Amino acid sequence: MSDIELANVSKSFGSVKVIDGLSLVVNSGELVVFLGPSGSGKSTLLRMIAGLETIDSGTLTIGGERSEHLAPGQRGVAMVFQNYALYPHMSVRENMAFGLQNIGMAGSEIERRVRDAARTLEMEELLERRPAQLSGGQRQRVAIGRAIVKEPKAFLFDEPLSNLDAALRVRTRVEIAELHQRIKVTMIYVTHDQTEAMTLADRIVVLNDRQIEQIGTPMEIYLRPASRFVAGFVGSPG
Ligand code: ADP
Ligand code: MG
Repeated sequence: MSDIELANVSKSFGSVKVIDGLSLVVNSGELVVFLGPSGSGKSTLLRMIAGLETIDSGTLTIGGERSEHLAPGQRGVAMVFQNYALYPHMSVRENMAFGLQNIGMAGSEIERRVRDAARTLEMEELLERRPAQLSGGQRQRVAIGRAIVKEPKAFLFDEPLSNLDAALRVRTRVEIAELHQRIKVTMIYVTHDQTEAMTLADRIVVLNDRQIEQIGTPMEIYLRPASRFVAGFVGSPG
């Protein structure tokens, strides 16, 4: 089943085209990495899928519904923001519950979801703490928890490791991989880091210059790069 489908999608900011006729299918349960240099349109693509940017032309469908009929809250997708976006004056529990309270969900259902998410992320003992009382890695887990409680059909990560130190980057990357193994939900993960892409992806979408350069498994991309750009970017041999 295809969860998210872009067909011939273009996007400009003013007179500058940043996505040009891009087509892509993300299958249900897949972990797809958008890999490309800074400015290649990765965040714009993710924000269009999330409904935070409109598309200029082409079609975007999510779960078979066209995006223009779906408000951001109806898409069943959740963005994972970086850990610094947590509310400092709220506990972990309140941070995770906040987005659900905003949409008027019943308190008992919110409680269940927060409990389940805390269990999934193995952080039940952290629920009453404030962000300042957490390590960087724990804060990033809470940021993921805020997405999990929405029980989305797809998670969207935009460079989630970019503000973490090297050791924490590795640990959080492993945690995201384990989370995907455990809940098998579609994930789109944006990065400019080829190591992250190689270690996480079921498939990598290499972006460059408004277009897709190549789509393939990490091994395909590494061993059979479709262009000099891809070879250089992922450090292929030969
Ligand atoms: P990436 O995430 O791969 O670094 P972006 O999607 O952020 O790339 O940006 C792609 C291009 O679009 C860049 O040239 C950027 O400057 C431009 N851009 C992104 N958002 C806006 C915006 N809101 N207004 C004008 N230009 C933008
Ligand atoms: Mg970006």
